[in-house]
Amino acid sequence: GGALNIIQGALELRTKTVEDVLTPLSDCFMLSSDVVLDFNTMSDMMQSGYTRIPVYENECSNIVDILFVKDLAFVDPDDCTPLKTITQFYKHPLHCVFNDTKLDAMLEEFKKGKSHLAIVQRVNNEGEGDPFYEVLGIVTLEDVIEEIIKSEILDE
Ligand code: ADP
Repeated sequence: GGALNIIQGALELRTKTVEDVLTPLSDCFMLSSDVVLDFNTMSDMMQSGYTRIPVYENECSNIVDILFVKDLAFVDPDDCTPLKTITQFYKHPLHCVFNDTKLDAMLEEFKKGKSHLAIVQRVNNEGEGDPFYEVLGIVTLEDVIEEIIKSEILDE
């Protein structure tokens, strides 16, 4: 129990990968880059409860930006501001990692970097065509921390 579970969880960061803990793309709350920040869009975002929202262009797998809910502090829904105006103003860097990144390495990157969210991609070389990058989902610092303390929570 107790500390041993947490130590074990921490040791397992060396063997587990981001693919084991990511939130799949299909479960991500995202926005299309061409939406307008009207009342409906903004209340959907608030209701999602997430602080960071990936923004995609054309298709969900093509993530081009991250919107922080706090970016909306000065946006008036009556102005119907295009989302692009906001993302082009803030230009938060996109952080991409490969699916086989170990959780200890991911934790180090999160500690170094400014963003605590990364896009997880893999090289898809199944099928006949050329290999291509495929986005699997997102991983955040909280997914890694949860992996450390999970056994402790499950124990209770
Ligand atoms: P938040 O700060 O928005 O609560 P966290 O970084 O604490 O997000 O992550 C909490 C959980 O929610 C994690 O499992 C993470 O992968 C997931 N998550 C974060 N952002 C989103 C999003 N936009 N859509 C779906 N899941 C998300």
